Amino acid sequence: MPSMTSAATDEPIANFIGGEWLAATGTDSLPVKDPSTDEVLHRVPLSSSADVDRAVRAAREAFPAWRETPAVERARVLFRLKALLERHIDDLAENMTREHGKIVAESKGEVRRGIENVEHACGIPTLMMGTTLEDVASGIDCESIRQPLGVFAGITPYNFPVMIPLWFWPYAVATGNTFVLKPSEQDPLTHQRIAQLASDAGLPPGVLNVVHGDRTAADAIVDHPDIVGISFVGSSDIARTVYARAAASGKRVQALGGAKNHMVVFPDADYDRASETVLSSIFGSTGQRCLAGSVVVSIDEAYEPMRERVLAGAADLTLGHGLDPDTDMGPVISERHAARIRRFIDRGVQEGAKLLLDGRDASVPSYPKGHWAGPTVFDNVEPTMAVGGEEIFGPVVSLTRAASLEQALDIIHANRYGNATSIFTTSGKTAREFRYRAGISMIGVNIGVVAPMAFFPFGGSRGSFYGDLKAQGHDAIEFFTDKRVVISTWR
Ligand code: NAD
Repeated sequence: MPSMTSAATDEPIANFIGGEWLAATGTDSLPVKDPSTDEVLHRVPLSSSADVDRAVRAAREAFPAWRETPAVERARVLFRLKALLERHIDDLAENMTREHGKIVAESKGEVRRGIENVEHACGIPTLMMGTTLEDVASGIDCESIRQPLGVFAGITPYNFPVMIPLWFWPYAVATGNTFVLKPSEQDPLTHQRIAQLASDAGLPPGVLNVVHGDRTAADAIVDHPDIVGISFVGSSDIARTVYARAAASGKRVQALGGAKNHMVVFPDADYDRASETVLSSIFGSTGQRCLAGSVVVSIDEAYEPMRERVLAGAADLTLGHGLDPDTDMGPVISERHAARIRRFIDRGVQEGAKLLLDGRDASVPSYPKGHWAGPTVFDNVEPTMAVGGEEIFGPVVSLTRAASLEQALDIIHANRYGNATSIFTTSGKTAREFRYRAGISMIGVNIGVVAPMAFFPFGGSRGSFYGDLKAQGHDAIEFFTDKRVVISTWR
């Protein structure tokens, strides 16, 4: 029997298709490991295109009845799901920490952010309303209504395995569509439980389907003729490919990519508060966040005080298992990713940046097999160096100096990405100028990780985002519905 998740087993976990837990037909599978211990928690199947097709068929069959279900009733299912998520928040967070590694407070914060999206989608009866105007011409009325489109799909990354799928599927189903989710193959277990909770909440069979796998399953989704739209989140090169390939077959696409986020500190900032925020932006979730701060751009005399504080704070962090209350920073997702981070640090040294704190040899004696990457601080970084310009996605910070706001903006604009940025200053004028000219989609003023709440759009610009409608907020309603206009007269 395929298993949903709970007990550790050698058998791959199941796909969730048409309301049933079904074994994938693909024969390959990968281990899902606790990154602190390297222990295999479960195996994840690498589903074939036939598995994807089966899920899409289930979603297509479920669509007509779900679409006809009144919006208030669809919302009630989500209200019940919200209650179940609240009831299980602690065990979902622990589960996530085991498979992802982030500390349990971060996991709980993530589940909370996911729940907020479910809460927002509960407002669908008003969110989905259209508009009308009587007498657009004499005796003629015009109304615009929103209608669902059919089967949507989501392909999501490993770093927020609960929240990111919840940026999409609650809105898709609230608006009357059905959905196929392919979670990350690296940590698919917690969302597996959420699919079961959605079913327990009364979501009818086939409305939400989960297909596990890697690129093969993702490609089958991208190319499937019966999928009308795709929400993708992952690294930029793949986001761009998915955007182009899915759009070529006529799909709607929102593809969120990678990031390199700059945090600009002015000499008039409160250095203690700025460095506290900057440190948690850099090292929270072990740097595996698309909103992670990774370059601190200090203006003139802000450089030395910020360097001193960032270095002291970084050196003080305790690595460990995310369930241990003394841990400040958990492991990274895999040994492969830890090795990639080490290679970036090697490149930084080769390119002439000064290594003030070296995380390459990090270890935790009680977890000798963990995938550790220690806090790393580079001084005198140039934007042209790999550590100054590329996404590392680990606990590595680059310190850079700029002479003015102008020069800081030049550094930001020269970078390929445009996800998030922050400024630390006590000058409203400087902050306004920064906000006006940064050209970045998520901007923090004296705030580090600028994560828009569920009722605001989430997504970047330039190489961090391909598409136009972002995740969450009203953009989600726009993305998952078509606006149709009816013009009528009764003479
Ligand atoms: P990834 O790009 O390796 O994988 C993301 C998803 O794409 C996974 O489900 C994976 O199985 C699938 N995939 C892999 N190859 C594919 C292909 N060729 N075609 C289609 N799908 C494919 O990303 P990751 O390592 O899981 O996540 C980290 C990345 O995600 C970072 O770059 C991070 O910045 C980014 N991210 C961005 C945001 C955002 O809001 N912009 C949020 C979270 C993460």
